[in-house]
Amino acid sequence: MGKIILLDNALSNMIAAGEVVERPSSVVKELVENSLDAKATTIQVAIHDAGRTKIVVNDNGEGMDRDDAVLALKRHATSKIKTEFDLFRIKTLGFRGEALPSIASVSKLSMETSTGQGGTKIEAHEDNISISDAPARTGTTITVEELFYNTPARLKYLKSDQTETSNCIETLSRLAIGHPHVSFTCSIDEKLVFKTSGRGDQLETIMHVFGTIAAKNMVPFSYSCPDFTISGYLGKPDIAKSNRYYMITLLNGRSVYMPKIQAAIIEGYRDFLPSVRFPFTIINLKVDPSLVDVNVHPSKREIRFSKEDLLKQILIEIIPNHLKQTTLVAQPLVSNIKKILPEHLESVPLSFLEPDTEYSVTVPQPSVGSDAPIRSKLHAMTQIHSTYIVATSHTGALILIDQHAAAERINYEKFQAMAKTSAYKVTPLVPLLIELKPSEARLLDETKITALQETGLTLVPFGINTYQVTQIPIWAREYDERQYVEGLIDQIIHLDKIDILAIRDEAIASKSCKRSLKANQSLSISEMQKLIDDLLKTDNPFSCPHGRPTMIEFSQYELEKMFKRTGF
Ligand code: ADP
Ligand code: MG
Repeated sequence: MGKIILLDNALSNMIAAGEVVERPSSVVKELVENSLDAKATTIQVAIHDAGRTKIVVNDNGEGMDRDDAVLALKRHATSKIKTEFDLFRIKTLGFRGEALPSIASVSKLSMETSTGQGGTKIEAHEDNISISDAPARTGTTITVEELFYNTPARLKYLKSDQTETSNCIETLSRLAIGHPHVSFTCSIDEKLVFKTSGRGDQLETIMHVFGTIAAKNMVPFSYSCPDFTISGYLGKPDIAKSNRYYMITLLNGRSVYMPKIQAAIIEGYRDFLPSVRFPFTIINLKVDPSLVDVNVHPSKREIRFSKEDLLKQILIEIIPNHLKQTTLVAQPLVSNIKKILPEHLESVPLSFLEPDTEYSVTVPQPSVGSDAPIRSKLHAMTQIHSTYIVATSHTGALILIDQHAAAERINYEKFQAMAKTSAYKVTPLVPLLIELKPSEARLLDETKITALQETGLTLVPFGINTYQVTQIPIWAREYDERQYVEGLIDQIIHLDKIDILAIRDEAIASKSCKRSLKANQSLSISEMQKLIDDLLKTDNPFSCPHGRPTMIEFSQYELEKMFKRTGF
């Protein structure tokens, strides 16, 4: 009896904070959303020490009078909804009345606010609130200091400063893109990261946040139907990325995660991108609020939208149509960049560049046993469908060889042997500029650039958040160079490590495939014989680098069985 108690305010706020305030970027998101709901046209955000020591959000919105300012810090105090009816028609970004009390419960929060008549300053620390006068400047400034000072477990769970800062920038980038009518300023440790004009042009906002290359390579689109309208920008395949973090979906201005919609966008790009590349897209979805349930999770990033399947179908249809209408021929991304001369090529032995049939790979001693008859010499007999070589072995087996798969295996091992022994670097075939989002550029520090250099990749700063690739390892040549470089950068910034072997193997496999003899190509008996002999010298003659078989064997026994000569 008497075991149950009602938790006090401070404790219940801290519990709510567990969901609402996960990390510094959650504070940025909640405070900026409040500024937007207060109809601010200018929002300035300053983040210090990854948000650990101080986050300041200043806006020129409606502000609060003194009574409201005091109430705002109480749990479930909101000006945004009044009735259940409103809850199902949310037009604002906030409505739960939880953010301010939650943030105040895990930090030292102070607020200066004014509606233009008188001004109020409130300092909230633990359960104490002090109220004083402030200048009558319309708008609100909220300062959050020492975040998580009283929740050591949460503090410990934070990632590196770089990652937390990057998350804050990403959060703010999306808010800025979703609200082109608002001028955003984002500064980190007193340095400006981006500033948008607030002129209402989303493409200009994309340029201010993500850079010129991104903005220049966007295809605008729009579509409307009775249930919703969609509009936005589809990144041309040229600026596709090696991760999904550049696919931005904004539902009524709120950045949301809708996995089905993301899958539909990828599907829409299917004929324009290889499966390992992801598009850069900004999709604005305007929907009647009654069709959306934002009350799914306290962070409101997950939502339910009743017309999701229809939206999905429409995207799958309109994306390829829009992409087809635009000239998608790859162009140098920046015209004034000086064409880089392949000066490094001089130091490279010719055999590395020219396809040749003579190569030296270490031929392992084959473990020829009675179960490995194929390792002995095979005799080319004929070719069928200009694709398969028919051969026989001395044991009387019939062997069918896929000529493309065989050539791929041979080249793969040849290129691999080269990659192992050479650290040759070359300039990319076409000038290569890599423009990163500000949140990603933040993660690419000197140490990581040096680590990339060790893999043979040289990046030289080329303007804001942009790098020029001046050198790549020779074996990355002829592979999709941009894809290769972005794959490496992606690994080092998101996984903090480079699996150079995996990337190299993929590059080499792809290059081997491109360089190899194709199907539907007639060969003379001596060409077939040369291919077979070369294949048998490889480490793994039985499969191509992608794991498909290079040859199929019908042993004498199997042939006899098929002809029912064995009695089975
Ligand atoms: P919610 O946004 O869900 O209503 P919050 O705890 O974030 O809850 O904010 C509580 C209330 O404080 C808001 O409903 C709003 O009236 C007021 N408020 C918060 N931030 C601002 C701001 N920057 N400008 C004006 N009013 C604000
Ligand atoms: Mg709020």
